[in-house]
Amino acid sequence: MTLPSAPQHARILIVEDERAVARGLEYGLKSEGFEVLWAQNGRQALEMTDSHNPDLILLDIRLPDINGFDVCRQLRARGCRQPILMLTARDEEVDKVLGLELGADDYIVKPYSLREVISRIRAQLRRAYGELAAPAGERQIRFGNVVVDLERFMVMRDGKVLELTPTEFRLLRYLLAHPDQPISRDRLIEAVWGYDSDLGYERTVDVHMRRLRQKLEPDPAHPRWLVTVRGLGYKFQPEP
Ligand code: CA
Repeated sequence: MTLPSAPQHARILIVEDERAVARGLEYGLKSEGFEVLWAQNGRQALEMTDSHNPDLILLDIRLPDINGFDVCRQLRARGCRQPILMLTARDEEVDKVLGLELGADDYIVKPYSLREVISRIRAQLRRAYGELAAPAGERQIRFGNVVVDLERFMVMRDGKVLELTPTEFRLLRYLLAHPDQPISRDRLIEAVWGYDSDLGYERTVDVHMRRLRQKLEPDPAHPRWLVTVRGLGYKFQPEP
């Protein structure tokens, strides 16, 4: 499973325009078991955060289009709550990271060691997990007779632990993180599976959703919480 019991499988978005630097980070993080995405500029970083729902963002300040400060600010303004680690090259940037209320969680000064980056990432993931999918401080989400423990990565129904696959858990977590919002199959494919939506994985989403419903819904044929949005996808409908 991914977070937090095994944060090494988390999905990390690297935002860095210099290919060699990005490659070095990518190689190091992958060898630690992280899943890695790469955005080459600020605009891409904003798009990929929306479409791929990374667990943590490693954000360089010097980017060709929008600088890292503004990317960070915009991500937070859009409601992005994943940890953001800023990569800074100079002391004056550190002052700025600290002085401005950007919403960054931590910073790393270049040149850094890969070991340092990895240990900071792990620390951030440990601290932040559970906040990713729930309102601040909320570690458990309940609906009906179901309890989803975001911290322990566990789902219980009537007090019994359910066997969910990692993908089922991620799908559920994503829907719970966006209550009452219709979410398209395309967006789920990108956010939960990390695939491009135009590859035709819609049926995969439906199959997983059917299994989730069988596990969680009292009457899977007439779901109460994990409901279909006709012609679009699905949404989590909390108790009225
Ligand atoms: Ca750069």
